[in-house]
Amino acid sequence: MLLTLTTTHQPATDLGYLLHKNPARVQSFLLAYGTAHIFYPEASVRRCTAALLLDIDPIQLVRRKGEALSLEQYVNDRPYAASSFLSVALAQTMGTALNGHCAQRPELVNTPLPLEATISVVKCRGGEAFLRRLFEPLAYTVTITPHVLDEEFPAWGMSHYYTITLTQCCRLSELLNHLYVLIPVLDDEKHYWIGDDEVEKLLRRGRGWLETHPERDHITSRYLKHQRSLVREAIARLVTEEESESEESGDPESDDEVPTAAGTEAAQEQHQSLHTLRLHTVLSLLRESNARSVLDLGCGEGKLLKLLLQEKQFERIVGMDVSYRTLEIAQRRLRLERLPSKQRERVTLIHGALTYRDKRLQGFDAAAATEVIEHLDPPRLSAFERVIFECARPGMVVVTTPNAEYNVNYATLPEGRLRHADHRFEWSRAEFQTWGQRIARQYGYSVRFFPIGAQDETHGSPSQAVMFSKEQDA
Ligand code: SAH
Repeated sequence: MLLTLTTTHQPATDLGYLLHKNPARVQSFLLAYGTAHIFYPEASVRRCTAALLLDIDPIQLVRRKGEALSLEQYVNDRPYAASSFLSVALAQTMGTALNGHCAQRPELVNTPLPLEATISVVKCRGGEAFLRRLFEPLAYTVTITPHVLDEEFPAWGMSHYYTITLTQCCRLSELLNHLYVLIPVLDDEKHYWIGDDEVEKLLRRGRGWLETHPERDHITSRYLKHQRSLVREAIARLVTEEESESEESGDPESDDEVPTAAGTEAAQEQHQSLHTLRLHTVLSLLRESNARSVLDLGCGEGKLLKLLLQEKQFERIVGMDVSYRTLEIAQRRLRLERLPSKQRERVTLIHGALTYRDKRLQGFDAAAATEVIEHLDPPRLSAFERVIFECARPGMVVVTTPNAEYNVNYATLPEGRLRHADHRFEWSRAEFQTWGQRIARQYGYSVRFFPIGAQDETHGSPSQAVMFSKEQDA
């Protein structure tokens, strides 16, 4: 199988720096299933093409599997059609470029270049239309040449095989990451066993484009070989990565609390101070409960964790979030590596979804979920309830969420719109109380409600909290 990458960026031979491969040489790499050769069919100042030729040995493929041999194992399309083998070869021979590094010419990494990628043969289940649905939303111009099944027998009609050319001005690492994920998706026949780390790979390679791709779910499903539990996990995490992305973007419209005068410093401050107020309300409730071990559910970037760390009372602090990226930010913000080891040992960050039972959440005095529940859609909210109140059962739980009634006070928020694009709901005080009372009754907790922020006589306060305290387990 053959992939060529061409640029007309001047000087075009810069491609050699980006790929860490000298245009004057042919290089060969021995891989588990065959040999990858990288060479440059053309390398001038005006136009440069790098080719990755993957020579797969079908016999070796069969031997590795250790299965009985059949004709199909010898005569198949694997040596010719681009597939997951090509993605593996890309990672193994062009890993540095794929990861967007270039020690010699770092400025090139972030420069959009006129690029063209041609895959000589790709099998596409779903045909031309699917090919376009994958690449066009990523802004490629897609040229597709379909191939007949057999030129000797035109009556047999068309095959599932195509030659495709993708053209765009973008960073080389973007193009390589798109190819890495989408080639096996087109082919829909991964050659290797799919485990948990495949989800990590997909999220890493898909970062920044897969979250919002219109075919996101389809891509995820094929990439993970249709393994339902992995697909579910990946989609949940892609959805939240998209959320935290917009939360970090600083775009006032996508901000959690819609400010009265969008974008002004005063508005930002107002937003900041409401969040600080919320965190301090939660902190004082935790303090008063005499909790020594605390869970921060959906800890985000670790703002509450930071406050908890400052108080000796909290001896064991665990932050959990579904977004790996957010946890990385939390880790950095808390500067854990710089803390003396005694301090550091008090905090643990764990990666997980609050909608799946998890033994790691058991045995805590208290738990907090600040501004998390409104990000869960109704079936997930019921799962969250069971995970926390039926399975983890902390001694007390504090939950905060916006008060929808207060939204009329936000001049720039159109009527009926939620404060944040990713909120699945926002409750009135009555709705929140009905929910809290039901949870308390159902799971054996007592319940108290608190307003957060300055109160308006008619609409209450901007945010609201509930505290559940466990009644003695029977
Ligand atoms: N509690 C933090 C962050 C609130 S934003 C704070 O108050 O600053 C909501 C957070 O919930 C995000 O970090 C998001 O990744 C996380 N989240 C959303 N759904 C989740 C789920 N199913 N499991 C765990 N975390 C989740």
